[in-house]
Amino acid sequence: MSRVCEVCGRTKSAGKQVSFSNRKSNRTYELNLQKTTITVDGKEKKVKACTRCIKKAKAE
Ligand SMILES: [Zn+2]
Repeated sequence: MSRVCEVCGRTKSAGKQVSFSNRKSNRTYELNLQKTTITVDGKEKKVKACTRCIKKAKAE
């Protein structure tokens, strides 16, 4: 699996696209994944994390 957040483990989720004429078709919502460095036990590690996790880490 490639498009997975390495911090929270979330991946794409399903939903529906709704057109102006109200027709519905399936679609997937991808995570906004970014490469970032996190510190684990004093060691820096490069991971792909979703922006939600990056924001959470910044606030701490
Ligand atoms: Zn995440």
